Amino acid sequence: MMLEVEPPKLEAMLIIDEDWDEAPRGGERLYPKGLPYFTRSARPPALVLPATLSPIFRPRTQATYPLVVWHELAHAFLLQKEVVRTPAWLGEFVPQAASAAVARRVGLLLDEHLGMIERDPGFTVRGLRGHADADEQMAFQNLLLLLGADAVEEFGDGFLKRLVRALWEEMDIVHEERAEELLADALGPIGREWLASRPEF
Ligand SMILES: [Zn+2]
Repeated sequence: MMLEVEPPKLEAMLIIDEDWDEAPRGGERLYPKGLPYFTRSARPPALVLPATLSPIFRPRTQATYPLVVWHELAHAFLLQKEVVRTPAWLGEFVPQAASAAVARRVGLLLDEHLGMIERDPGFTVRGLRGHADADEQMAFQNLLLLLGADAVEEFGDGFLKRLVRALWEEMDIVHEERAEELLADALGPIGREWLASRPEF
């Protein structure tokens, strides 16, 4: 396993549209159809996967579904231990970089997928504030995927393990400056410089 700790015990459920409202979830609120999620409301915790992925997910390539599944698995993995609050970009960077790393390890080429991503949606991953609509959320996730895939290309995937460990050790809310420091340090000696050179960051 890439992150070299025990994988979480979980069940994956593939749910067809008609049964979506019966899937385990925390609270009474119904979840929108087609959006995978991880829930600790089931024993063992469950990864709930829609048989039909929401059209919100873009771009649509052979990589789309596997990336979404690996993203949710990485969340499940991270949540095995208490994780303090972090800026959204850091909390979502981990699963996006992890899914890019898994793709690389299993030989799933991401070139086509990454090539279809809008590189300048009008904000950076650190700049997206307040309520974001579904399109902005997707653009945000896609910027993080670009950043994560390039980070894996540049530094190898060892930084993910360092970043996850560092996050597990944080005891207080991680604010912006600390979040940038954690990521830069996990990447290594030129991490800060590399991040500063990234337009989507
Ligand atoms: Zn996520």
